[in-house]
Amino acid sequence: MINLIIFGPPGSGKGTQAQTIVEKFDLTHISTGDLFRDEIGNETVLGKKAKEYMNQGNLVPDEVTIGMLDNKLDQSQNPAGYIFDGFPRTLAQAEALDEILKKRNTKITHLIALDVNDDEIVNRLLERGKTSKRPDDQNEEIIRNRIEEYLEKTSPVFNYYNEQGVSNKVDGMGSMDDIFNRIYDILS
Ligand code: ADP
Repeated sequence: MINLIIFGPPGSGKGTQAQTIVEKFDLTHISTGDLFRDEIGNETVLGKKAKEYMNQGNLVPDEVTIGMLDNKLDQSQNPAGYIFDGFPRTLAQAEALDEILKKRNTKITHLIALDVNDDEIVNRLLERGKTSKRPDDQNEEIIRNRIEEYLEKTSPVFNYYNEQGVSNKVDGMGSMDDIFNRIYDILS
């Protein structure tokens, strides 16, 4: 079983790479950002809770996020494993994820961090904002806030899993294929 955390700042290409990895390894892709956007689209209670945080580029509170993730795992059993994309984004989420997986007699096998510099991130996100219609991609200040949130709250998750011996860094600059090949080498 592969349980992969695809890791890195907003705009580092996590979702793009996750799509290819899912196909090659038969994994289930769980993106908390996509789950929140579905909830917002369906105007659910959870979506209403998440919306303000997301639009400002702030993290959604842990208890909301962790509960949603736990439910999603219950609904999508896959013995081949999972790619976690955009989760965990805090140390509390990482600890919760470990507990959730332990209940299911499994654990995180890999964390792969995509390494991309800040200027490239801002450029990619502003570019994506032209077509994505995502409110958090439209404004440079909100993008900078997402990067701040990442540096402050999310980046320590790399070391947390490094202590478990599963963290890897991959150069996230270059073509999609080149980056995928770097990831493939680690997974196979
Ligand atoms: P990106 O990686 O480009 O920022 P995502 O779709 O992963 O895009 O996340 C968009 C937003 O959704 C985040 O800025 C945050 O507000 C919210 N979000 C997604 N995942 C989490 C999480 N694990 N914890 C808290 N907030 C989250």
